[in-house]
Amino acid sequence: MLSTMQDRQLGLPLLLRHAHRVNGKSTVISHGRSTRHVATFAMVAERAGRLGSALEHLGYPRGTVVGTFAGSTQEHLEAYLGIPASGRILHTLNVRLHDDHLEYIARHASDEIFIVDGPNLERFCSIAPRLPGMRLLIVAGKDAPDVPPELSCDVVLYEELLLNGTPEIDWPEIDEREAAIICYTGGTTGLPKGVAYSHRSLWLQAMSLCTANAVGMSCESRLLPAVPLYHVNGWGLPFAALMAGADLIMPDHSMRAEHLLALIDEEPPTIAAGVPTIWSDVLDLVRSRGRADLGAVRTICCGGAQVSQSLSDAYRSMGIRMVQAWGMTETSSVSAVATVPRWAQSEEDRLHYQASQGRVVCGLEVRVASLEGEVLPSDGTSVGEIHIRGPWVTGRYLGADDQSEFQDGWLRTGDVGTVDGDGYVFVADRAKDAVKSGGEWIPSLALEEAIRNHPAVQDVAVVAIPDPRWQERPGAVVVLRPGHVSTSAELSEWLRDKVARWWIPSLWIFSDSLPRTAVGKIDKRLIRQLIRDGVYS
Ligand code: ADP
Repeated sequence: MLSTMQDRQLGLPLLLRHAHRVNGKSTVISHGRSTRHVATFAMVAERAGRLGSALEHLGYPRGTVVGTFAGSTQEHLEAYLGIPASGRILHTLNVRLHDDHLEYIARHASDEIFIVDGPNLERFCSIAPRLPGMRLLIVAGKDAPDVPPELSCDVVLYEELLLNGTPEIDWPEIDEREAAIICYTGGTTGLPKGVAYSHRSLWLQAMSLCTANAVGMSCESRLLPAVPLYHVNGWGLPFAALMAGADLIMPDHSMRAEHLLALIDEEPPTIAAGVPTIWSDVLDLVRSRGRADLGAVRTICCGGAQVSQSLSDAYRSMGIRMVQAWGMTETSSVSAVATVPRWAQSEEDRLHYQASQGRVVCGLEVRVASLEGEVLPSDGTSVGEIHIRGPWVTGRYLGADDQSEFQDGWLRTGDVGTVDGDGYVFVADRAKDAVKSGGEWIPSLALEEAIRNHPAVQDVAVVAIPDPRWQERPGAVVVLRPGHVSTSAELSEWLRDKVARWWIPSLWIFSDSLPRTAVGKIDKRLIRQLIRDGVYS
């Protein structure tokens, strides 16, 4: 028997209307280093409607792919809403990608229109001649420089374009399975791979983020997403805020610690999010100013890379709940969140769960399997590749026939670790970053965590280095805290009672910084290359 329920489609048109009619008084604050602009959700939704309708008037049909090359601004957010709500497809380009990767993803996604803001225009124009499919360039922002006359496409200013549109809020329903937003992986382990989120997956994922077991957001919240809108859709956080009616504080073009701390003081957010590097920099800054607080911030959702225990503890001591989150481009955003269950009474238990990558959110399922594909028990001890499936997990890559990263309807995440009986995920390594010494696996994330606990160590990356006897041995690239000294002998000695002896790195390299990818993750591929080329020695 079919249900009696109405068959309304989930998706961006519904979200646009809710943001306009119900959460219309909540605000978007775009706060740059020297600019501040406030708009209500109602204003943002109307401008988003104008953008969609202006493209319609210009004759760009539904399904046209619109690339954005922009910072965390109100205009970018309007594109997030208006492009998909009007039936077009948004593709957020990561401005920090290498030119070749940018060209690759813009062509691969068949982008025809680009929305580019002032600070990114010069860079974009240098790549534009490599994008023959480009038909229209929309320039956003008041401070935009002139577009070089040799660009062969139509050019229009964003604000002028909006004058040609109408504040359309009542877009017709779109089939919820249609593509709404395209996102590419950061390329940490190879060429970027594309994923097309559907209206339905974006909706479900935003609802999941709003729940207390995830980030927990309501109309009482003020959210500071220190996550670029092009990194896994800004982890989907803007959609969750629009859904919940949480004020949204957009950091514009800077994610630097000084700027974020200024926003924390001037705009008092209650919830913040971002990768560990950002929150580690903010912590250093807070301490250097002799402070022990982060204003009104009560929760920080931290993920995208492993969150160290010392970072979580430091924020905890300031009365802030820092929760680790785990997710991927392929899973739309946050898939597990390290909330501590109420049965964790002892300090040891609390630390155990806090150190996990998180408990899988309702709607997604995880399992562990050997690299050969044999499903292993989710018992907290069986180590294997983590598989995931669910309504907001991709079932394939855009334009690719290769199904090697999928098995029986599950996505093979490439992350190696365990899952326990309560759905907590523990990631020990990325399969491609694993160190295999004499046939035994050394979990690089655990080894990094141990080294990072040394008082002189600011950051560290462990990678596999070839070894004639053991095939591979761990090598550690260490960044020391300013004003601290240490040596390989001292660090090795210090590790002796903390990890198995054979885990102790055979090579120690001291460096001023660690190379990072376009989304701020440690670039282990490049580190291995630099070691091979003798640049690091
Ligand atoms: P890329 O694959 O280019 O890095 P993503 O941003 O999609 O782009 O990266 C997803 C990966 O980031 C995960 O598969 C995992 O390896 C890593 N990751 C995300 N969150 C965490 C976390 N909390 N702890 C450890 N690794 C994480």
